[in-house]
Amino acid sequence: MNLRTVGERLRELADGEVALERSLAPLTTYRVGGSAAVVFEPASAQDLLHLPTACISAGVDPAEVPVLPLGRGSNTVFSDRGFDGIVIRMGPSLSWIRGGQDDSTRVAAGAATSLPFLANWAARRSLSGLEFTVGIPGSVGGGVRMNAGAHGGAVADTLTSVEVFDIAAGAFIGIPARELALDYRRSALSEKQVVVAAAFELLPDEGHAVRARMESYRKHRAETQPGALQNAGSTFKNPPGDAAGRLVEAAGLKGHRVGAAQVSDLHANFFIASPGATAQDVFDLVQDVRRRVLDRFGVELEPEVRFVGPFDSPVASVGAAR
Ligand SMILES: Cc1cc2nc3c(=O)[nH]c(=O)nc-3n(C[C@H](O)[C@H](O)[C@H](O)COP(=O)(O)OP(=O)(O)OC[C@H]3O[C@@H](n4cnc5c(N)ncnc54)[C@H](O)[C@@H]3O)c2cc1C
Repeated sequence: MNLRTVGERLRELADGEVALERSLAPLTTYRVGGSAAVVFEPASAQDLLHLPTACISAGVDPAEVPVLPLGRGSNTVFSDRGFDGIVIRMGPSLSWIRGGQDDSTRVAAGAATSLPFLANWAARRSLSGLEFTVGIPGSVGGGVRMNAGAHGGAVADTLTSVEVFDIAAGAFIGIPARELALDYRRSALSEKQVVVAAAFELLPDEGHAVRARMESYRKHRAETQPGALQNAGSTFKNPPGDAAGRLVEAAGLKGHRVGAAQVSDLHANFFIASPGATAQDVFDLVQDVRRRVLDRFGVELEPEVRFVGPFDSPVASVGAAR
C-alpha cells in the first residue's frame, strides 16, 4: 500500500498540515515511539473529506487504509518502529465549545477540546457533570472513544451524541450515545470513525459546588498520582471488584523497572518512562507486571493504555524488582 502517495495527494488537496515520516513521540504524553508514514492535521472537520479522496486517487481503498485518530496522546504508546499508517491528529481547529447559554444545559465541543478546559468552562456556567474530567489530560474525542472516567463519573453519563467522520463511507454521521456501546473504558467506535464533535447534556448546579468538587478531585490526584508527563495514566483496567494498582503493589512491584520504564513509587498503576526509555521498555514492563500479577494472584490484568504498531514479544529475562 503506497501511503507516501496517499500523503502526497492529501497534501495537494487538504488545507491542513500533512507530514510524511513524522515523529510521534512529541504527540503523546509518554514521549516515546517512532514515526508515522503520514500525520494529517485537518484544518477543519470538512478537511477530513479529502482523506478518502486522496486514498482513491492513490489507488488505495479508504476502507483498508490503516488510520489512527489521535487526540492528546495521553492514552497511547506508539511502537519504536512507528505506525505504518495515517495518524489523524485532532488539532486546534477542532477545539471549540458551544452552548450553555440562556439556561441551556446542552453543550457541544469539538473533538480536540481539552477535557479539563471543558470541565472548567462548564463550571464557570454552573453546569455539572464533567467535573471528573478536570485531571484527565485528554481530548473530547479520546474521552469519548475511551469512555474516560474517574471519581465515579464517566463520559457516558452526560454524552448524548457524537458527530463522526467515517473514512470508509467518506461521510459525516451523527450517532446517538446509546448506540456507542459505552462501557468501562470502551466504546464501539472503530479506528475508521473519527469523532469530530460531541454533545453533552449537563445539569444546572451551584457554581461553587461544581468548583469545590473539581478542587477536591485535583487535590486527590496531586496527592496520589504522578503528573501527566512520561506516562498515560492508569496502565491497567481495574478487574471486577478490585483495583489494578492494589494488585501491582501487593505483588511488591512499586518501583519495579524494565529497561528505563518503571512502576511509579507513588501509584502502582502508573508506569513512568524515565529519560532514555523506549516504547519497548514500556511494553515489556506492562507484560512483565501482568505475568507477575497473574502468577501471584491468578488475575489477568487488561491494559487500558493502547499500544500501537509492532512490539516484540515479552523478553524472557527482565530486570529485578528494586
Ligand atoms: C496523568 C494521567 C491521568 C489520567 N487519568 C485518567 C482518568 O482518571 N480516567 C481515564 O479514563 N483516563 C485517564 N487518563 C488516560 C487518558 O487521558 C484518557 O484515556 C483520555 O480520554 C485520552 O484522550 P486523548 O485525547 O489523549 O486520547 P489519545 O491517547 O490520543 O487516544 C486514545 C484512543 O482514542 C482514540 N481517539 C482519540 N481521538 C479520537 C477521535 N477524535 N475520534 C476517534 N477516536 C479518537 C485513539 O485512536 C485511541 O484509540 C490519564 C492519563 C494521564 C497521562
